[in-house]
Amino acid sequence: MTPNIARVALPVPLDKQFDYLVKPGQQPAIGGRVKVPFGRQQLVGIVMTLTDKSDFPLNQLKPIYSVLDHSPLWEPSLFKLLNWASQYYQYPLGDTLANAMPAYLRKGREASPSTLKMWQLTDAGHNQPLTALKRAPRQVQALTMLRQGALSHEALLAEEVSNATLKTLTEKGWIEALEQAPAMRHWQSQFAVTEEKPRLNEEQALAIASVNANPEFGCYLLEGVTGSGKTEVYLNLLEPVLAAGKQALILVPEIGLTPQTINRFRRRFNVPLETIHSGLNDTERLSAWLAGRDNQAGIIIGTRSALFTPFANLGIIIVDEEHDASYKQQDSLRYHARDLAVMRASQANIPIVLGSATPALETLHNAKSGKYHHLILSRRAGAAQAARHGVLDVKGQYLEAGLSAPLIARMRQHLEAGNQVMLFLNRRGFAPAVICHDCGWLAECKRCDAYYTFHQQSGELRCHHCATQRPMMHQCGQCGSTQLNAVGVGTEQLEQQLEMLFPNYRTVRIDRDSTRRKGSLEHYLEAIRNNEYQILIGTQMLAKGHHFPDVTLVALLDVDSALFSNDFRASERLAQLFIQVAGRAGRASKPGEVVLQTHHPEHGLLQALLYKGYDHFASGALSERKQAWLPPFTYLALLRAEANQSELVEQFLQQVRGIFETSPVASQETMVMGPNPAPLSRRAGRYRWQLLLQAPSRRALQQWLSVAKPAIALLPLAKKIRWSIDVEPQDL
Ligand code: ADP
Ligand code: ZN
Ligand code: ZN
Repeated sequence: MTPNIARVALPVPLDKQFDYLVKPGQQPAIGGRVKVPFGRQQLVGIVMTLTDKSDFPLNQLKPIYSVLDHSPLWEPSLFKLLNWASQYYQYPLGDTLANAMPAYLRKGREASPSTLKMWQLTDAGHNQPLTALKRAPRQVQALTMLRQGALSHEALLAEEVSNATLKTLTEKGWIEALEQAPAMRHWQSQFAVTEEKPRLNEEQALAIASVNANPEFGCYLLEGVTGSGKTEVYLNLLEPVLAAGKQALILVPEIGLTPQTINRFRRRFNVPLETIHSGLNDTERLSAWLAGRDNQAGIIIGTRSALFTPFANLGIIIVDEEHDASYKQQDSLRYHARDLAVMRASQANIPIVLGSATPALETLHNAKSGKYHHLILSRRAGAAQAARHGVLDVKGQYLEAGLSAPLIARMRQHLEAGNQVMLFLNRRGFAPAVICHDCGWLAECKRCDAYYTFHQQSGELRCHHCATQRPMMHQCGQCGSTQLNAVGVGTEQLEQQLEMLFPNYRTVRIDRDSTRRKGSLEHYLEAIRNNEYQILIGTQMLAKGHHFPDVTLVALLDVDSALFSNDFRASERLAQLFIQVAGRAGRASKPGEVVLQTHHPEHGLLQALLYKGYDHFASGALSERKQAWLPPFTYLALLRAEANQSELVEQFLQQVRGIFETSPVASQETMVMGPNPAPLSRRAGRYRWQLLLQAPSRRALQQWLSVAKPAIALLPLAKKIRWSIDVEPQDL
């Protein structure tokens, strides 16, 4: 009997699938889309199963409205991965699959390249003597061109045949339009290495040989500082893959997708390359997605979500800067693209390379325990020297907009030598708080448990947690005094101060406020490289992936906030930032210097980092994590809940706690912590609490969550409260 029922995953926040009747003649595919009635609406869903049994009487089932795909959208291993991700990240399957599709496919558009508008001659057009048209040279040109065969609309416009000319010729009945699928590119047959390659050093050669030794799944950590030649290794790894006609996927952090990176791949290979990032519009996104699926791209470079691109014949995955926090999605499907990439490579049975100067502790742990192969590039490929570094003890020192006198003196030296200086401060705005000098009142956001940040440029107080903003007040909200002072230093204030301290040099600030306009970041980066600015101020944004050879002094102004943070990952992030900027300061002829301002120069972590390097720091941090039962030695999930009434949220999480504790899969090694107020206990008027769950393995964590989730959903409070599960959260 032919299956006449399709079980469909729909983009609704319910952990179940829905049965629909397949009408005679309809040919749905497992993994393909169908449009179905759902309540009063029509939804696009994915067929998960074709069967002839349903738990419902057949006469209650509605028929599929239309079948959108006759073949699966994803290759089998990727489809399997998406199913796995839905379970592992505790996110409904239909929503997970919708998340993995370009917007146009979610909306039901055809999953094939858009056709091209072409023009060809009619019989009358062929027979038209051109000499009769002497006074219409454009028409003659168009007809002459078309005598060689049909041409695309774009091709004709490029030769300056206008729309008007085409219209006239159509009206005369000499040409006609037709829609044609774009020609398929057979890049494999033309594959070539199109530039001279440098001679590899021994470590590079060894790394490449190790990966090439086994074409099947293997995970390789490629550890090497900036400039040690990692990208050159990637290029060499891609070569045999592309030569064999297979495709490559390269993941980069959100801000790492620079034209320089892309150009290195374009220069090296004669292969179509597509990029996928947040700047694409829906058409471009679909087109890049199809290029992967239809083997029209040899290389796809993209940020996090590029992981969900289907490939006709994927041969290798590279994850550059694998430690980068932007690989973790912070809402809806809270996946980690690096971790899923490893799963994908394993499902597809191909090698994956994770590159970093500062591997995540999780990754290092996997390398040390032998789960991943550890490849090391210990030297800079060029002749550049490592930067010098040191701490500046600022205890008891007067700080001018966060700058100590010795740091200002150092800056002067570097600037006078004609070099650039880069300062890091991870706080936007002018000042992180406004205080009343007479009574101590602090301007607080009414909707959040947070102070307003003062933005002097716009004369506003802004809450960085909800979008609230208001004009700066002139009087204290408590005593009416006009003595309101800004406290603390943000990048805006630092910029102002530097302009006064160093009037002869130009200062530029790179943060989310100053780079809001599209293209402005690229503009600033270019100007910095052209030495139009000498003093660069930035938040984390400035640290990532940009190379400024004339920067010889880098200073991290506020190291202490990371040393004494509640988030156990803060020190790891500080260490990564430090190594990253240290790796970028200076070049062969201009050795760089990195300076940390701190009140705690004796701090063990700083000492390890400064005098023994990242690996030493990481070993120390890993043994601390082991003792404290923290990842990667245990696995965490965070259950967040929020509502307008604090008591309700706490009560809800107490009940949830009970569910986890009495779960049949709970053990001595599973632990529930909380409910505790979230780090920002009130945001946008809603009270936020969280429950932290700890388990000894991924498997145990997943089982525990999967068993508890349906029970949580049944709690009466679950309907009044917004709650979500973050598996392996990055921010606690
Ligand atoms: P990373 O990706 O680790 O920052 P790159 O691969 O970009 O390092 O290498 C840094 C610089 O050194 C680049 O300009 C690159 O062309 C060059 N380079 C890399 N490997 C070699 C090599 N074996 N011989 C000479 N130059 C090299
Ligand atoms: Zn707020
Ligand atoms: Zn006051």
